[in-house]
Amino acid sequence: MEDYPRNLAEFETRFSTEAACREYLVRLRWPEGFRCPRCGGRKSWPVRGVLLQCAACGYQSSVTAGTIFQDTRKPLMLWFRAMWAVTSQKNGASAIGLQRVLGLGSYDTAWTWLHKLRRAMVRPGRDRLSGAVEVDETFWGSEEENVRGRQTEKKSLIVIAAQEDGGGIGRIRMRRIPDASAGSLMPFIEEAIEPGSVIHTDGWSGYDRLKSMGFRHRITLLKGQKASASELLPRVHLTASLLKRWLLGTHQGAIGREHLDYYLDEFTFRFNRRNSRSRGKLFLRLAEQAVAVGPAPYQSMVKRAPMSVGGDHNI
Ligand SMILES: [Zn+2]
Repeated sequence: MEDYPRNLAEFETRFSTEAACREYLVRLRWPEGFRCPRCGGRKSWPVRGVLLQCAACGYQSSVTAGTIFQDTRKPLMLWFRAMWAVTSQKNGASAIGLQRVLGLGSYDTAWTWLHKLRRAMVRPGRDRLSGAVEVDETFWGSEEENVRGRQTEKKSLIVIAAQEDGGGIGRIRMRRIPDASAGSLMPFIEEAIEPGSVIHTDGWSGYDRLKSMGFRHRITLLKGQKASASELLPRVHLTASLLKRWLLGTHQGAIGREHLDYYLDEFTFRFNRRNSRSRGKLFLRLAEQAVAVGPAPYQSMVKRAPMSVGGDHNI
């Protein structure tokens, strides 16, 4: 039985204290019970309500150590509200929106929190797409109009894989790539798609090696046909347009190129769970993964927040 809040009222009742939030994380992090990070011991007792002391070796750890919540000086209740804001809304939350809804003093904090949460949106060891999968690239960036074909200058190139599910889209994967060469496309495909799957592309030479790599390859040539690219690879193109709408709408396009990958992860996380019975389930997945991935210190992610208001790095 999966344990998650079904709606806002349940969320607010459930996570109204620090202890309740911590207890939830403990159960997600150690579903089979506590394990000492130093000696592997299974018995512990609480210290000051915050730490767990190993009965065998005396080591004191906290449920947040080694997770994205490590070293936070803000209450877990606030983090839980952030996770709820990101998962309960159809389009997630922007940094400005999160700052406002949580009453955070600084934009940087909201921005950093969203980026930390995005790192928890890719499940380590997730399985690959299979069956029939459309693959194509799309551009993101302001100079899009002036550059032809597959050249990239100040634009970012994104490769998208969209699984066919009858006439609709199953799951997706996407990644920013430096160029559309086979050397950039093939590693993405190997990581994202099961060998033996049917990969449907246009006639671009960057995909020529697919057969030799153990995939089946269906090519639809665009040249000389009346149909547009969006009709020939409709799932990839629908995904691309939804992605761009989200980047421009929710985030108003204010995204540094170096951070684009994390936005792709967030889009993918939400898209692949769009048919989930309950938004609370997304909250559960995010919280689960937040204690499963390592911390992302502020310095490691700040090449620079796109906008900086004040110098409060009390995150
Ligand atoms: Zn121990």
